[in-house]
Amino acid sequence: MERTCFNTDLSLKDVNRHVKLVGWVSKKRNLGHLQFLDLRDASGIIQIFIPESLEVSDVRNEYVIYVEGVVKKKDVANKKLKTGEIEVEASLIKVLNKAKTTPLIIDNETDALEDIRLKYRYLDLRRPVMLEKLKTRALILKAVREFLDERHFIEVETPILTLSTPEGARDYVVPSRLHPGSFYALPQSPQLFKQLLMVAGLERYYQIARCFRDEDLRADRQPDFTQIDLEMSFINREQLLSLVEEMIADVYLKVLGYKVHLPLKKLTYFEAINTYGSDKPDLRFEIKLHDLTDLVKQSSFETFQNNKYAKAIVINNQANLTSRKVVDELNLEAKKFRLNNFYVFKVINQKLDSSLIKFFNDDLQKELFTKLHLKENDLVIIASSNNHENVCFALGALRSQYAKKLKLINENEHSLLWVIDFPLFALTEEGHLTSTHHPFTSPSEETIHLLKENPSAVLSSAYDIVINGYEAGGGSIRIHSQDLQKEIFSILGLNDEQIKRKFGFFLEAFEYGTPPHGGIAFGLDRLAMILSKSDSIRDVIAFPKTLKATCPLTGAPSQIDEEQIEELHLKIKKGEK
Ligand code: ASP
Repeated sequence: MERTCFNTDLSLKDVNRHVKLVGWVSKKRNLGHLQFLDLRDASGIIQIFIPESLEVSDVRNEYVIYVEGVVKKKDVANKKLKTGEIEVEASLIKVLNKAKTTPLIIDNETDALEDIRLKYRYLDLRRPVMLEKLKTRALILKAVREFLDERHFIEVETPILTLSTPEGARDYVVPSRLHPGSFYALPQSPQLFKQLLMVAGLERYYQIARCFRDEDLRADRQPDFTQIDLEMSFINREQLLSLVEEMIADVYLKVLGYKVHLPLKKLTYFEAINTYGSDKPDLRFEIKLHDLTDLVKQSSFETFQNNKYAKAIVINNQANLTSRKVVDELNLEAKKFRLNNFYVFKVINQKLDSSLIKFFNDDLQKELFTKLHLKENDLVIIASSNNHENVCFALGALRSQYAKKLKLINENEHSLLWVIDFPLFALTEEGHLTSTHHPFTSPSEETIHLLKENPSAVLSSAYDIVINGYEAGGGSIRIHSQDLQKEIFSILGLNDEQIKRKFGFFLEAFEYGTPPHGGIAFGLDRLAMILSKSDSIRDVIAFPKTLKATCPLTGAPSQIDEEQIEELHLKIKKGEK
């Protein structure tokens, strides 16, 4: 039963060759006295012609079969198949295993609900489109490994059962049987270990690392996910960014044959927010934010006079989008960003039209026209508030929504850029400082002197790589002095005891000759999603979880036996099991 080759290895050059193939029955077609079946293996589909002499009435879809036959040229090629110019005329068909009727159709198109797809993931993955996505993911990893291996990076695995890593999410914890009342945390990232590997003198580390974060899930998040994680010693930010962008350009070339132009554009965090209303802007379309603060303050509209900030976006040629319904929808959107409203103007007959027009005299209207380069039929949306980020983020969200709705994005283009110069700290709702990235990020040289008197003004040496509007990766140059690291912890509100308990081992390492170092981690799942043009991160993960962090296939998470609970020294609260 030894197979000759995979289905898609065969082509016109194999005509008249005797072959032995294996796979699954993808489809059977009975055209009167002519019978065909599509045989699917991991490489793809080939058509099998079944002569009348062969009895196949008991062969059904998804049966596993063995086929022997001769390759023939087809009269009319099927352009949809890689093997469409040929077929195999069978001389023997053997059933190796039967299959029940599958609960979802095994085809590229499916109308099966995601719950069913995940419950029967092994069938969902039989759909050729799904298999292609896994292949793309594997190609990305192959390209990354080749690139990094050539540059002397050492692949190292770090522990899964470990101590908490502060990446800002909740930990998944594992109770210890041997140490009653103690818990391991699953790593939110290998951050601490990769820095320790720099202390260990590896100089160049990478890992395809599993990470775990107990967060509320969104479309592009999973509780366990994979990072392409790397760290280097004796480099500065520019050197690191240039190596990493070369790596990603290499991945694009090898996986998609797409040429990324280097060096990538760099935007500072403030430029990104001010101009695109996002710290992960998609630059595949032109819409930009315009600052109107000074201009609208001259109007007699009180809100504009009182608010500190006003910005606008212009959507060309969409003046029709001002129906009551659209404006109501817009205002609902505004609420998400704590704004009362968006304010809408349109250009009709070369004049501005809006319910607010009475507050704008002729000169001001002219000024608005010139400042926004307005043309007939343009739509202007203004956001105004005392909170700068709310104004920017609200318009940034609209910018993306309109681009999608109006199909302004060329899906064959990719927008890659760096966002740099983030603030080192952010303010929590309770008014505490937290790290914008993580507490090991070094302050920028230019702003480090502000650390004591004005920490909110300190910029970091962090960088994010943004692809098509997604944060595809992020990292930083790290702190490598024990004193500075301690100072950052204490600015973050940790006292000496907490610092010692949580990071004592880490700080101790810094006393033994820590090289300057920095690194980055890419979200592999997100990268695979972008490169395989998938809508969801779940499509590029073999066995993903639902948005409720469950696995319909295995039933995880599940209850455990009383004995296990006992052994782990745990008690489950009554009524909460
Ligand atoms: N550990 C960081 C993260 O998971 C990445 C890095 O700073 O290298 O986001």
